[in-house]
Amino acid sequence: MSQVYGRVALIGLGLIASSMYWSIKRGGLAGEVTGFARSEATRETARRIGLCDRVCDSVAEAVEGADLVVLCVPVGAMGPVAEEMALHLKAGATVSDVGSVKKAVIEAVAPHIPEGVHFIPAHPLAGTEHSGPESGFAELFDNRWCLLVPVEGADPAAVAQLRAFWEGIGSNVEEMDADHHDLVLAVTSHTPHLIAYTMVGVADDLRRVTDGEVIKYSAAGFRDFTRIAASDPTMWRDVFLTNKEATLEILGRFTEELFALQRAIRTGDGDLLHDYFTRTRAIRRGIIQAGQDTAAPDFGRGKSVK
Ligand code: NAP
Repeated sequence: MSQVYGRVALIGLGLIASSMYWSIKRGGLAGEVTGFARSEATRETARRIGLCDRVCDSVAEAVEGADLVVLCVPVGAMGPVAEEMALHLKAGATVSDVGSVKKAVIEAVAPHIPEGVHFIPAHPLAGTEHSGPESGFAELFDNRWCLLVPVEGADPAAVAQLRAFWEGIGSNVEEMDADHHDLVLAVTSHTPHLIAYTMVGVADDLRRVTDGEVIKYSAAGFRDFTRIAASDPTMWRDVFLTNKEATLEILGRFTEELFALQRAIRTGDGDLLHDYFTRTRAIRRGIIQAGQDTAAPDFGRGKSVK
């Protein structure tokens, strides 16, 4: 693999940024990688574990001279961070992000991008329930999708360079518009997370009645929900606050389906339940055939990727 950018700046040093750093190093994709995190504690940890070639004490210092700046902070923090760094960006640089929601990030960040700087939003579809600078690993993005969401009038050469960068990181890259991205992700990621949070919340209520039995006898289905529901609260709060429309639309459909299944259970409609579960089983097979998961029975209890 060869160098794609001279200097890359990672703003926010959590799971995604740290995984990117180890992967950039693995592929030799950048000459130098600078990093910045909001808290002194995270910057200290980054320095201790050798995360980034140079950890800076300000956003301004981190983005100075960078050819690519990647915002790796929660969606709700993207706008203020973009505003803070705007004056210090190099002419001709590319600003990108890794936020889980795209329309809201574009609305928050685009107004701060100076003339002569490219803005190309992106979203790597890979993560775990862990967060922070010590949770990253180089293989996180291998064979996962990274969606690029270029804004209107984006420079094709700058988009191609960012594509080469994510391919070097190990991802398969595709382009999508922001509205479509937010709807697709509401189905595949955001609503499932909300359902997991709800189910674990319900079980937590029950636990008080059943004296710890929910934890003690937790079965595979519930354990998988708890893994998803252990995800970072700030990140997921921001996802729902900013992908409101699409999530509410999918939740509406989910509720209708749930009522249909509830009715089938009440009326003893075994055929409906059997047909439904046969259809959903085929979707799982499709995901495994597409190489996006393994059929290993310990899924979710080893190194998890969602
Ligand atoms: P994370 O591990 O929690 O790290 C977040 C980083 O952002 C930390 O370094 C934190 O600094 C910094 N930060 C938080 N609030 C900030 C603020 N108000 N101003 C400046 N910096 C702030 O998060 P992550 O999982 O890497 O997620 C980062 C982004 O990737 C999010 O936009 C998320 O939507 C997206 N994403 C996440 C996943 C996933 O599964 N985790 C997958 C794909 C995309 P301190 O440590 O100093 O507080």
